[in-house]
Amino acid sequence: MNYCAQCAAPVDHRIPEGDDRPRFVCQGCGQIHYQNPRIITGALLTAGEQVLLCRRAIEPRKGYWTLPAGFMENGEGADAGALRESWEEAEARGTLAGLYTAFSLPHINQLYLFFRGTLDPVAFAPGPESLEVALFAPEAIPWEALAFRAVEKTLRYWLEDRAAGHFPTRHETLEPDRRFAPRNG
Ligand SMILES: [Zn+2]
Repeated sequence: MNYCAQCAAPVDHRIPEGDDRPRFVCQGCGQIHYQNPRIITGALLTAGEQVLLCRRAIEPRKGYWTLPAGFMENGEGADAGALRESWEEAEARGTLAGLYTAFSLPHINQLYLFFRGTLDPVAFAPGPESLEVALFAPEAIPWEALAFRAVEKTLRYWLEDRAAGHFPTRHETLEPDRRFAPRNG
């Protein structure tokens, strides 16, 4: 940030009085422009033993498979956002069973949330951000072609939890992983 979004004066990057880290502070109006992580919300929707995945039509990670997910919008709940993204990316509707996984990615200032649910009805089609949408049996999940580490982790937990018949909610903080760099293949 170079200029204040409120008054267009230049901003400094300094630690405001009483704070403990640098912020963008307007030289004109004094406004402190806080920057905080962005939230990505998505859904793991199943039909019987299969899970719904979308192949991305856009960067980053174009051509790779993902669970439907995207940036949460102002004015919506995370669960509603997960269903909205499922519709936008996969023309899929679902019934959610609750929060399943949460991943903090401090190196890119993101928080991923995935809700678990069932496709309802079992119908889907690629939205504008997807090349294709498909149901995958556990043994057919394209592990080498997944778009994001949070997606890979969520699918691995789902496989384990299916076997155990119990789906606890989890949180993990993820380190950078070169396999999922934006231009990694
Ligand atoms: Zn200002």
